[in-house]
Amino acid sequence: MNLVSIPAGMETGFFVLGRGALSDLPELLRTAFPGRTPWLIADENTWRAAGAAASDFLRRAGCSVMEPQIFPGIPKLHPDYAVSRQLAGRIRENMVPVAVGSGVLNDLVKCASGIAGVSYCCVATAASVDGYTSSGGAMTVDGTKKTVPCPAPYALLADVEVLENAPPEMMASGYADLLTKVPAGADWRIADILGIEPIDRKVWDMVQRDIRCWVADCRNLEHLFAGLSATGYSMQVYHDSRPASGAEHLFSHVWEMEHLSCNGEEPSHGFKVGIGTIAVVKLMYFIADTPADRARSLARSLLSEEARKTEVEDLLKRGCYGSAVAETAMAKFLSGAAGAERRELIFRCWEKIQRAIREQLFPPEKFTELLRNAGAPTDYREIGLDREQYIHGARTAQLIRKRYTVLDLLYEAGLLDDALKEL
Ligand SMILES: [Zn+2]
Repeated sequence: MNLVSIPAGMETGFFVLGRGALSDLPELLRTAFPGRTPWLIADENTWRAAGAAASDFLRRAGCSVMEPQIFPGIPKLHPDYAVSRQLAGRIRENMVPVAVGSGVLNDLVKCASGIAGVSYCCVATAASVDGYTSSGGAMTVDGTKKTVPCPAPYALLADVEVLENAPPEMMASGYADLLTKVPAGADWRIADILGIEPIDRKVWDMVQRDIRCWVADCRNLEHLFAGLSATGYSMQVYHDSRPASGAEHLFSHVWEMEHLSCNGEEPSHGFKVGIGTIAVVKLMYFIADTPADRARSLARSLLSEEARKTEVEDLLKRGCYGSAVAETAMAKFLSGAAGAERRELIFRCWEKIQRAIREQLFPPEKFTELLRNAGAPTDYREIGLDREQYIHGARTAQLIRKRYTVLDLLYEAGLLDDALKEL
């Protein structure tokens, strides 16, 4: 079995990667989960892709297996926390849940295992997300998109043959998600410069040291899986998704809560964050291209707490963003002297931020080219957005989380409206 080395201190103890690795599943389970009976959890598509073969390998190796849980392939499975709760209710201590799938399926089983308090194994069926090796699952809990804390898989297996046979749009989606680490790094640099969230060097290097190499060739599956895994580990170490996600992910969360659909289907996570990336990069280049004195002269006056409240209510009037969002938005709003002080800090650091943005990012056309080459959408209309929802998404993305991003910088500087013209 081809074990890939894992950084020290990870929740993940075993990672098997290679061509034909699926045949190593019995050995992996025996080594990582001695004495426990496997319970395969898949949907009809991932069962065809790897589940049935995995089950055969287990039986032939003489393992007793539980009756598998196979969800329908259509409609697409949703990351509904209630489903995780149901799965958790069926997990016993002497079982090892084995998620056979990618993003949503892995997250469902990850959360279920977390609730049940047992470790689990994931058999990856596509290089489509960075969530394989991250702790926490992106779930919808009572209508709100949340990262639910739960341990990463204790064992992960990825068979390159299975990954290669995944639908091409899944690989495109994984590539787009990996590319987001570039602007996400810029967001962290901004928060660092302003003294809001200092960069953790060790965690930073896990993602940012090799990111340009990983995204250089979208057909390089090994680089793609390595990059996605590394970002997962970085989140495990940092206990937060900051190293892997910035404003572009916030755009995507807003559209998810709005149940964005395109031709009757929800666009993939990667496609949404890819469009978010195009938007965020344009906003960041607005900063990079606007001289400090010009930026100061464009700045709109600060709002009063009352006026901001009205603005927030208006942005949230669709009512689909969960009950806590208005509170989160107001908690981060700086009014009066605090607002003026923050604005002064931003303008004092303006040139430093401009340099950081130029250093961190490729030119905007390059992002478009990379996404297009990978087969990912590059225009908001391709994922079912209209102009109004696209722009509204940018304003609303700024409200929904505490995480400081370029959207907060632009809002606090009084420049968000001007910057949005770039979109
Ligand atoms: Zn992501």
